[in-house]
Amino acid sequence: MYLKIKFRCINCNKAVRGYTLRRKFCSALCEREYTAMKQREHIDYPEELHVSKSALGAASELDVCSDLLRRGYEVFRSVNSSCSCDLIAMKDKKILRIEVKTGWRHKQSGKLIYPKPSSHNYDMLAVAVLGRGIEFVPKLGIVDAALTEKIGE
Ligand SMILES: [Zn+2]
Repeated sequence: MYLKIKFRCINCNKAVRGYTLRRKFCSALCEREYTAMKQREHIDYPEELHVSKSALGAASELDVCSDLLRRGYEVFRSVNSSCSCDLIAMKDKKILRIEVKTGWRHKQSGKLIYPKPSSHNYDMLAVAVLGRGIEFVPKLGIVDAALTEKIGE
């Protein structure tokens, strides 16, 4: 049997009655707000994160597009958000399937943090580190070299 207890939401400080001692939030919204606030304490958090997730994702894709264009790739964007990868980059008659993720760096460790892609239909992951350039996984240089080898065969 559970006792209804009175507690204060650790996000909004509202007094609420709930059924479990472990409950810390008055609502799912307060839990989300609190988690986001805690995350911000640990990451380099530029202003862009205050826009919607889809706007941020689109901005990251465009960041990656311009980076690839500057590296001499021809770049193609998907016209359907459910395509198996976000971009196609072409150079020297070779094609790279690219998945774009928005990432950030941990303030203390400098570690690159990004959401895991749900599928593996890509040759390279491009992590747009908010306002701080693009990281390619694997490194673009390695992929470039592999492509050159293939072309040489
Ligand atoms: Zn609350």
